[in-house]
Amino acid sequence: MSRLLEVNGLTKRFVAKANWYGRPIRHVSAVDDISFTLDAGETLGLVGESGCGKSTTGRLVLRLLDPSAGSIRYDGRDITGIEGSALRDLRREMQLVFQDPYASLNPRMTIGDILTEPLMLHGLVPPAKRKERVAELLQMVGLAPFHARRYPHEFSGGQRQRVGIARALAVEPNLIVADEAVSALDVSVQAQVLNLLKDLQAKLGIALIFIAHDLAVVRHIADRIAVMYLGRIVEVAPTRQLFATPRHPYTRALLSAIPVPQPRAARQREMLTGDVPSPIDPPPGCRFHTRCPFAIDRCRQETPAMQSTGDGQEVACHRWTELPAAAPLPATTDSAGAARLARLQARFVQSTEVPPLSR
Ligand code: SF4
Repeated sequence: MSRLLEVNGLTKRFVAKANWYGRPIRHVSAVDDISFTLDAGETLGLVGESGCGKSTTGRLVLRLLDPSAGSIRYDGRDITGIEGSALRDLRREMQLVFQDPYASLNPRMTIGDILTEPLMLHGLVPPAKRKERVAELLQMVGLAPFHARRYPHEFSGGQRQRVGIARALAVEPNLIVADEAVSALDVSVQAQVLNLLKDLQAKLGIALIFIAHDLAVVRHIADRIAVMYLGRIVEVAPTRQLFATPRHPYTRALLSAIPVPQPRAARQREMLTGDVPSPIDPPPGCRFHTRCPFAIDRCRQETPAMQSTGDGQEVACHRWTELPAAAPLPATTDSAGAARLARLQARFVQSTEVPPLSR
């Protein structure tokens, strides 16, 4: 697979406080010096608690926000500072699927108009062929061509998310950033939308950055996972490996937080204590030291660099080699998310059937 995206030292600072004259006197680093790569057709899961900077990362990659520092290379080109028509052209190749499908669709437009808009904006399909293309897009996401005449409020949450995906696909992108794309949906509908995304990705070869806080959901779709904490990436690993041998104490705690059906297993869990510190005034050294059960003095003073574990994982922790092995996830827990989704798939995903809507 060829390299599609290369992010180096990406940082985004927002103004947290300004003086009387409007000059910034305090900043908050939503994303702080992160680096990662993405291959064509690959899915990278970005996970972490609320406020860890994962959505900001997605928007930086799409150039919806300007980075404060660092670089973004897309398909071999440096896109960090591009503007104007070059940025407009780039937008065709990168698309965003939002968390709230209802808020992201104009309620006054029919689904047909919503899907036609990007085709017109980018001059992709001649006017005579647009209706045909809209019908094709609707069918790709399991909706019917006659739905083009409907308005967003006439659809369920899952159907609206399908429309959101169809709109993203309309411009034939190389990269989609799905920002908590299934978080607002019922668990049964989540499975449908996840499978739809997976199928479309396999068929069309689109790379995906899948942002979510639920590791069980990310596990179902991601090839690799990057774990974020307070604006930094603390661990990156292939999905299976991350679940088998989590190296960073924060990743271990996140995995422990996956619901466990057996009380014995529950006793072995490494639970997170305390709140996430304020990003306006992050702790010095390792940002996780205020909640880490393995913290030592060095952690409070020195920021851990990202280092390779030699087996395909990368981790930012001073003590990863010394830590006792994480308690293995119980068999049923280990696959709890996948099993739950598999059950739901069996029940709901055999079809991409659309609940009846009268014509
Ligand atoms: Fe914990 Fe120290 Fe590792 Fe940070 S560097 S995760 S505080 S052990």
